[in-house]
Amino acid sequence: MIRPKALVVADICQGQISPVAKDALALAGLLCPKEQVAVVVPGADEKEATALLKSFGDIGGIGVIALAGRHLLERIGDDWLNALTSLCQNLDPEFVVCGWSSFFMEVAPGLAAKLNAACITGVDGFENSANGPVFSRLLAGGAYCARVAPQKKPWVICVSPGAFAQKEPDQVKAVPGKVQQVEAARPPNRVRAIERMAPDTGQSALDTARVVVAAGRGVGSPENMEVIFATAALFGRSAVAGSRPVCDAGWLPVSAQVGVTGRTISPALYLACGISGAFQHIAAISGARCVVAINCDGRAPIFSRADFGIVECLEEFLPAFMEICQKK
Ligand SMILES: Cc1cc2nc3c(=O)[nH]c(=O)nc-3n(C[C@H](O)[C@H](O)[C@H](O)COP(=O)(O)OP(=O)(O)OC[C@H]3O[C@@H](n4cnc5c(N)ncnc54)[C@H](O)[C@@H]3O)c2cc1C
Repeated sequence: MIRPKALVVADICQGQISPVAKDALALAGLLCPKEQVAVVVPGADEKEATALLKSFGDIGGIGVIALAGRHLLERIGDDWLNALTSLCQNLDPEFVVCGWSSFFMEVAPGLAAKLNAACITGVDGFENSANGPVFSRLLAGGAYCARVAPQKKPWVICVSPGAFAQKEPDQVKAVPGKVQQVEAARPPNRVRAIERMAPDTGQSALDTARVVVAAGRGVGSPENMEVIFATAALFGRSAVAGSRPVCDAGWLPVSAQVGVTGRTISPALYLACGISGAFQHIAAISGARCVVAINCDGRAPIFSRADFGIVECLEEFLPAFMEICQKK
């Protein structure tokens, strides 16, 4: 029986392990030696779990638990809560680590309550202090950062997308340690799935653009989007994207949304216009080679991700910038 100190929950979404599970795995590797880490793949049998994890990251030597039960692929929170609770009660891990996605927002706090564990959500930093682990998380849309030290084990830790995965080593070892299959508990639940709708996964111009000009709420009104499109038109192979409020307001289609609930992109240049830099947005641009932020508030969190920051109002800066570019 695998008895991990840190149990990483790797969820399957659309036939793949969710990318945020890589962040959870990377954090687990910081919390304890790899031999004490195990990954649980709910809904998969032993063979499927190993195959799915092969292209996943550095799983060399890590224990794999296939939490078998086809019903778990329906991703009903209640089913996961039951299955994970009884697994954790048997394995007694010190840390349960999962991604901070909308699905785990439903499951993780319930799991912590059932295990009488501390639940630390939205974790995007970690340090090993003399008194034990300290986790950091952003508050108020990134305006503040809190450092949290749990008092007693076990701990359910939910990791922000993009917070740790890039710190994984380049060399990927795909041969796991011990692999084990456990049948998932399935007491009757209170919810059933009625319909599953595929999201828009069609390739968009955002996936191939070298330059992405992104509009945030700071653009101010749908009429002002014109200047964003005009800025994008200055560059070859460019596209326009938006933060969630901009897409929610209909200034851009939902398919143009960048962020954890939108697209993840890796352009050569990302021009963030009037975007505050909430982690749900910047997690999806971690692959951008150069980030330039224009924001009239010099304390906006986007500046800590930006390679170049321009503290200026868009209506002042963009027309002046365009004029210079057109002259050249
Ligand atoms: C579960 C969940 C999922 C989410 N998913 C996403 C997601 O996928 N993508 C996403 O983007 N967000 C997402 N969000 C929302 C996210 O938390 C932020 O609220 C959002 O990113 C903020 O968008 P914004 O930066 O455009 O707006 P704001 O946070 O309102 O920032 C506007 C910025 O514009 C600046 N500004 C104002 N006027 C001007 C001006 N004239 N010139 C220059 N700058 C100006 C302001 O200083 C401010 O910094 C999600 C939230 C949750 C809870």
